[in-house]
Amino acid sequence: MNKPVYLDYNATTPIAPEVLAAMRPFLEEDFGNPSSSHVYGLRAREAVALARLQVAELMGAHPEEICFTGGATEANNLAIQGAARALPSRRHLVTSAIEHPSVLAPIRALEAQGWDVTIVSVDAYGRVPIAAAARAMREDTALVSIMHANNETGTVQPICEIAAAAHARGALMHTDAAQSAGKVALDVRALGVDFLTLAGHKFYAPKGIGALYRAAAAPPLVPILFGAGQEAGMRPGTENVPAIVALGRAAQLAQQGLGTFPVHLATLRDHLYHILKSQIPGLCLNGHPTERLPNTLNVSFPRIDATTLLATVASEVAASVGSACHGDALEGSTTLNAMGLARERVAGALRFSVGRYLDKAQIDYAARALVSAPCVTVVAASINR
Ligand code: PLP
Repeated sequence: MNKPVYLDYNATTPIAPEVLAAMRPFLEEDFGNPSSSHVYGLRAREAVALARLQVAELMGAHPEEICFTGGATEANNLAIQGAARALPSRRHLVTSAIEHPSVLAPIRALEAQGWDVTIVSVDAYGRVPIAAAARAMREDTALVSIMHANNETGTVQPICEIAAAAHARGALMHTDAAQSAGKVALDVRALGVDFLTLAGHKFYAPKGIGALYRAAAAPPLVPILFGAGQEAGMRPGTENVPAIVALGRAAQLAQQGLGTFPVHLATLRDHLYHILKSQIPGLCLNGHPTERLPNTLNVSFPRIDATTLLATVASEVAASVGSACHGDALEGSTTLNAMGLARERVAGALRFSVGRYLDKAQIDYAARALVSAPCVTVVAASINR
């Protein structure tokens, strides 16, 4: 193998060939603007409508409840800022300590503008305790934003119960499901959320496209961008038709693959874990043992600096220390620190995230490289001695 095995699907996925094929005509001959009244516009308009239906179907929503955005960061900002401003008499926001910066930063920005914020801690598995989340809510809570699954550990949150507690207080509920789509089933009605975020490039569509679900019964969001009336005025600007078509096709593939993809992912992930666990004494799992995305494996190598290990195996394995988009290399992962893990365990943590195009031979190859890395063999020998 001349390229390292890619075990970083939580950072981003390649574009699926079916997705590329679906979007290609809209980069070439079907280049129309969906707002145009001629046939070019009509083709683009129809394609956007189909994609909206496909994305809605992935999460059990109606097409009118889907707003296309320029990615999950924008969807999170729109949900948080838009919902906070939609309920001006409520000035309190609740979130968790392990959210992605695209949730935490807009919440901190609102705090600087006068909103009160409560950050709920997580337990040692990285789960938000339902009782703690409910206790944090107040009569003036506007929005509760808790991620569906964590990008670093894959731990899945009890969203349904937290949403019920939020609604009992009259608050709105948002969940960032950027990491969940295509890995586990998503049903907005069963979850009971008002807003849900998706990111195309986490499930085999391109980067720079995402979607925000807004329940029809939720109050209209105050937009964060102002312009013409696209996306029902919630997200103005000429639609990125090729990327929207791609998102729709990726959503359809994810939906069709729900019976097979999660099993394939979990099989590969568990295969990797079993090899590492059996060969490396003291290796420990970070995150929830069962309530976890099927593709995510976060493990701490004992007495090892994960950055050094990654550099050592860089020509065989592409994985990640913490997450790709957090600038927290010095302090270590925000999520693992929030879980209260010991410093050494945080320093030795690596995230492996598997994907649709991997096979067992590639996992074997990557595992062999990790197990035989000099820093790992030295520590293993000293522990066994
Ligand atoms: N939310 C989560 C949980 C993520 O993992 C990411 C990306 O890593 C994002 C939001 C932001 O996605 P994007 O950078 O595509 O806007």
